[in-house]
Amino acid sequence: MTGGLPPVRPDLAALEGYHSAQVDVDVRLNTNESPLPPPEAWRRELAEAVTAIDFNRYPDRAAVELRQALADSHGVTLDEIFCANGSNEVLQCLLLAYGGPGRTAALFEPTYTLHRHIARITGTSVAAGARRDDFALDLDVVAEVVAASDPVLTFLCSPNNPSGRADRPEDVATIARLVPGLLVVDEAYGQFAPSTALALRAGDPVAHRNVVVVRTFSKTWSMAGARLGYLVADPEVVAACELVALPYHLDAAKQVAGRLALRYVDEMERRVAAVAEERGRIAAAFADLPLDTWPSDANFLLFRPTTKPAGQVWSDLVAASVLVRDCSSWPGLTGCLRVTVGLPEENDRFLAALTESLR
Ligand code: PMP
Repeated sequence: MTGGLPPVRPDLAALEGYHSAQVDVDVRLNTNESPLPPPEAWRRELAEAVTAIDFNRYPDRAAVELRQALADSHGVTLDEIFCANGSNEVLQCLLLAYGGPGRTAALFEPTYTLHRHIARITGTSVAAGARRDDFALDLDVVAEVVAASDPVLTFLCSPNNPSGRADRPEDVATIARLVPGLLVVDEAYGQFAPSTALALRAGDPVAHRNVVVVRTFSKTWSMAGARLGYLVADPEVVAACELVALPYHLDAAKQVAGRLALRYVDEMERRVAAVAEERGRIAAAFADLPLDTWPSDANFLLFRPTTKPAGQVWSDLVAASVLVRDCSSWPGLTGCLRVTVGLPEENDRFLAALTESLR
């Protein structure tokens, strides 16, 4: 080093960060958050609980009360739950524990881009297969990729971000039997979906020891600001994640925020239903516009304008102060944009701006 700074790890040099464009707009429909806030009663309970925290002390390192509340909510035991700062950190812990140099993670694109990104950050090789044109899993491709790469981790995302559809439960079950290592099912939008891989573990935990289900408080729980995610898995997987998590990584306020949120399941389910209804309204409006779109089991819709380049439509929307996600450069998503379902008035503004752009 001659006065300069050292270069970053050579395997990171070509890596681009992951960001959604941050543009100052009135209507932000680009990051799949809930447009609805968590309940007022939760906010009050949390405020009170936070005043009682001993902030001079480290938090409960094992996050026992939070994990027990999550375990109860899923009908599993405490040692089957691992929590982290958002589900991205859960994924990172899995990759730190099981990935790394000389090991491979398999995934099927287009899918959540952070699976590939975090794999690379952790020095894990990636073996990627393609989903079908309708974004469903192709079991032949899955079998080929798995046979060729012997992955220690195989990632699915159900409902799949950004295409929206949940994977068929029978396909997930087949893949769980097929893979030589862990099958990680990212269910960030799980409460919107008609099925969950948790059913595999609940049905036969021994046969499905390798199934790991990842969830988050960022979407359906309306708590993206709290940064809390978790996994449900075999205790051995939980112990492996605890090996790589930093000590006291879950602060005391977050632990109580998550625990208290679980008292408001009905409110969460009502928000999910309200968002799904709005999604239906957007999908119906899409039918009258010159675009391709796909059915969604989540809080967003993927669409491909057919009469104008996606980049231009994205800019037209920004000019109308509406921000959506430009996915047009992601693998398998040429020409595609993704819109998060917002509040009714936000969706109206999006649809009016989109109609105007495509006129
Ligand atoms: N998984 C999927 C599929 C997602 O879409 C997201 C959010 N974009 C995450 C995980 C990460 O969410 P968080 O870290 O906020 O829990």
